[in-house]
Amino acid sequence: MLTLREDHEIESLLMKSEALLKGHFILSSGLHSNRYVQCAKFFQYPAYAELAAKKLAKLYEDPPIDVVIGGAFGGITIAYELARVLGVRGIFCERVEGVFQLRRGFEIRQGEKVLIAEDVVTTGKSIDEVAQLVKQHGGEVVGVASLVDRHMPDPEKLPYRFEWLHSVQAEAYDPADCLLCKEGKLPAVKPGSRGMK
Ligand SMILES: [Zn+2]
Repeated sequence: MLTLREDHEIESLLMKSEALLKGHFILSSGLHSNRYVQCAKFFQYPAYAELAAKKLAKLYEDPPIDVVIGGAFGGITIAYELARVLGVRGIFCERVEGVFQLRRGFEIRQGEKVLIAEDVVTTGKSIDEVAQLVKQHGGEVVGVASLVDRHMPDPEKLPYRFEWLHSVQAEAYDPADCLLCKEGKLPAVKPGSRGMK
């Protein structure tokens, strides 16, 4: 298991921007959870993005970095802000028929040191896809920087250095044996649906 990290400043901004909700939620996967994370709501506020980037950049002061890459769409804002703080290029990749690609003339040159930026890492699957793309272009993955680690059960171990600011410990349940459903105190809601606070 990865170590949990608590950054109370980031947590309070996640709550304030309603990027982090606590309750009883139906996730897009259909699973029920006691937490819902939508980092885009955090990144609505450029000052929050700037603060997060400064904190993450501090963790990557030592290794030389040539370019920061984010995956569309969640990683774009944090990749850009990190690039600004580190004084390097910030680019993003996007899915074309389900596969991450570099478009818009973005390049990773042979031997460039690449930092992958994400808003939230859950299983590490999309990080892996971005890393494959970086390698295909001859880049070297220096590490991964993420605002949040969602820390769902059994997170895949990332084969790269992984730095993040705040861990969100979410429980995920099959709807058939959801503890929150069994408690019956809070109805399960789909985040973003009408009627939800
Ligand atoms: Zn439930």
